[in-house]
Amino acid sequence: MNLELSEEQEAVRRLARDFVEREVAPRATAWDRAEEVDRGIVKKLGGVGFLGLTIDEEYGGSGGDHLAYCLVTEELGRGDSSVRGIVSVSLGLVAKTIAAWGSEEQKRAWLPGLTSGEQVGCFGLTEPGTGSDAGNLTTRAVRDGDGYVVNGTKMFITNGTWADVVLLFARATDAPGHKGVSAFLVPADTPGLTRRAVHGKLGLRGQATAELVLEDVRVPASAMLGEEGRGFSVAMSALAKGRMSVAAGCVGIAQAALDVAVRYAGEREQFGKVIARHQLVQELISDIAVDVDAARLLTWRVADLIDRGRPFAVESSKAKLFASEAAVRAANNALQVFGGYGYIDEYPAGKLLRDARVMTLYEGTSQIQKLVIGRALTGVSAF
Ligand code: FAD
Repeated sequence: MNLELSEEQEAVRRLARDFVEREVAPRATAWDRAEEVDRGIVKKLGGVGFLGLTIDEEYGGSGGDHLAYCLVTEELGRGDSSVRGIVSVSLGLVAKTIAAWGSEEQKRAWLPGLTSGEQVGCFGLTEPGTGSDAGNLTTRAVRDGDGYVVNGTKMFITNGTWADVVLLFARATDAPGHKGVSAFLVPADTPGLTRRAVHGKLGLRGQATAELVLEDVRVPASAMLGEEGRGFSVAMSALAKGRMSVAAGCVGIAQAALDVAVRYAGEREQFGKVIARHQLVQELISDIAVDVDAARLLTWRVADLIDRGRPFAVESSKAKLFASEAAVRAANNALQVFGGYGYIDEYPAGKLLRDARVMTLYEGTSQIQKLVIGRALTGVSAF
């Protein structure tokens, strides 16, 4: 086993680190306070190729393997989880899913815009009444002539107010198999589709989270991604890879928690010495460091499995489960190192904790990841 990065992967990581230090980190606190990331960041992300990783160059992608994608995601997560989420969704859940399931026409229609950052994608699965139990979604797509008429509501949709295209999951009537869920690529300006920003989030405040309401939205049959009735497989395959991306973002948060805790512990003095000299402070820091390494190794293993064409979905759930819980622990430990200053947003630990917390909730809660892992081990579904 070789855990060294190749020269190319090291170069991608350096590029991401420089980008984050220049374009993201200096603005992250202001975006968090303003509850909005500067939209110009999307084109910049596209310009350096971060929205096209793993996508073929003929569709405007920048190629690269999944480990490179993890390295970039980690660095973005280290700088600002709201920015990381733009990439995890627009590239990770939408563009990569179009690349995997789309027709030639769909790939040519959407991938160049998404990979360049000219356009943004969002992933519309969750509804007000169906979160973890996504297979029971109630948004309906009723066949009408050569298209469908869609009605329903989607909740908590990342990039929702910014998106140009919605990868939408709806129950197509009379479709066989997989409970009849189908996937559609719906331009966000289609008449009948309205979006409302979700405000007051604990973390990821810079992110454009939205509720989408669809009232008699007409979509042509050519907008269907994959076959009719295969939409749930489309969604689950997207989330299996997406969980690796969330895990990589969590590694970034935990790494940031380690960096700021070590720095602060070396500067702050109490009882006549820097707090790094107190053994219990070192315990907090070493706990963070072990979480960073363990989360990173689990995440890299998923990338390696994907790049070698091996099954990876259960390993992705393990990485997401561990890394998300680790990021919360790491950020909380970092906050403790900062003492009272950790509790105010002039210092970085509080934002790391707020941004980490959602990671145990979306793309399958920690409980749902445990059910995925438990089903694989026992052969019994406990959902
Ligand atoms: P529920 O499913 O109601 O769960 C409530 C509790 O019950 C949880 O603790 C859960 O673990 C537990 N639970 C549920 N079922 C079981 C079970 N069988 N066994 C044990 N425990 C169970 N969705 C999208 O489609 N696209 C997005 O871009 C997106 N972005 C998001 C961004 C943010 C900031 C947030 C907060 C959410 C986002 N989501 C998105 C939705 C997210 O995926 C859901 O919130 C998540 O799947 C949980 O669903 P729920 O909130 O309805 O909780």
